[in-house]
Amino acid sequence: MSVSFQQQDHAGRPEAGIEKRPLERYRAPAKPSLVGLSRAELGELLEGIGVPAAQRKMRIQQLWHWIYVRGATDFASMSNVSRQVRQELGSCFTLARPEVAAEQISADGTRKWLMRLPGEHTGERPHEIECVYIPETDRGTLCLSSQVGCTLSCSFCHTGTQRLVRNLTAGEIVGQIMVARDRLGDWHAAKPAQGEAERARLVSNIVMMGMGEPLYNFEAARDALHVAADGEGIGISKRRITLSTSGVVPNIPRAGAEIGCMLAVSLHAVTDELRNRLVPLNRKYPIKDLLGACRAYPGLSNARRITFEYVMLKDVNDSLADAKALVRLLAGIPAKINLIPFNPWPGTRYACSDWEQIEKFSEIIFNAGYASPVRTPRGRDILAACGQLKSASEKLSARERLALRAMAMTD
Ligand code: SAH
Ligand code: SF4
Repeated sequence: MSVSFQQQDHAGRPEAGIEKRPLERYRAPAKPSLVGLSRAELGELLEGIGVPAAQRKMRIQQLWHWIYVRGATDFASMSNVSRQVRQELGSCFTLARPEVAAEQISADGTRKWLMRLPGEHTGERPHEIECVYIPETDRGTLCLSSQVGCTLSCSFCHTGTQRLVRNLTAGEIVGQIMVARDRLGDWHAAKPAQGEAERARLVSNIVMMGMGEPLYNFEAARDALHVAADGEGIGISKRRITLSTSGVVPNIPRAGAEIGCMLAVSLHAVTDELRNRLVPLNRKYPIKDLLGACRAYPGLSNARRITFEYVMLKDVNDSLADAKALVRLLAGIPAKINLIPFNPWPGTRYACSDWEQIEKFSEIIFNAGYASPVRTPRGRDILAACGQLKSASEKLSARERLALRAMAMTD
């Protein structure tokens, strides 16, 4: 499995001031997990352990079903796979998911898992990511991380302050879904109890809005989302998968062509001057280029809109003139606008806009034809908030805790 390294200047250095530092390398464990592999990769591994070509397709189908429909955690339970193949598989591979270091369940049902991934060097502190589940009446949304930390440093984002950065593998991204389904008991039972219809899955939607910039870990995000969307496995349709980007323009058309999921764009400002300060990547890919890539995103229609995220920062980007400019800027793009009340974190220079201001701002957006743009606060008691996903649970004062605004990541 290869992990890509990204975005360097012509001399091969990370771009000064936009991206922080080179990524840490990923070292595969001695016994790799099959979780997150594509069918083709599974086929290669089966070939490697001597499964004859004529059997391989069937074995891949069986493994796919056991792993992604039934949530098998060991090979022994795979009753229709021959004993010999099971033994071979067990001696070379695992079905391991990321280790859960902590689980928190909020009063509103939101759950947050702190997951531990192996570090690069022996003895090094393990890498940590967070994954959040948000249940709602008509859906259950899982917010996935794509990197440990983030190479970008948006000035309002806590994740961006994290020093260590590593790309997740596709297996580690899919592994987050596996952990959530394990913990929620969300796998298909072998046989539903008599008279019981097959129930809807608890994890019905995915958003790539946790730690990291998914379009800077493009191949792994793409491969993981293909596994998640596979109708014979996890089966979450691409319309229910949203990838959020801070604006990695060259990879936006690739996301459309190679993933085909819904797109969310972290806009946050209506002028380059301000966006350069909030999202430094804007210096490389300014608003005009970003919106150009959005306009060209395949399959856009009123039923398939791009979500524009706009974090509400007091006296920074929340004037009513900003709201009007936002509406003008997005004219002609099938768009949804999510106003996200800023989640404060210790040491931040920003404050969340006053609620009244958010309401006035949102009214302008609403009058321009965009429905219910403010995200509902969720999971605030466990810090499961956007931009709050910095690992190692921080000790916060009761006041800071109260100030938190954890937002649902779906509209
Ligand atoms: N890197 C990607 C996806 C992860 S961030 C991106 O930036 O889009 C997910 C969302 O949370 C983004 O819209 C991001 O701008 C927003 N966010 C980051 N920090 C935040 C904070 N402190 N309060 C509210 N939203 C925040
Ligand atoms: Fe990275 Fe997104 Fe945070 Fe910016 S907002 S630092 S891109 S995680």
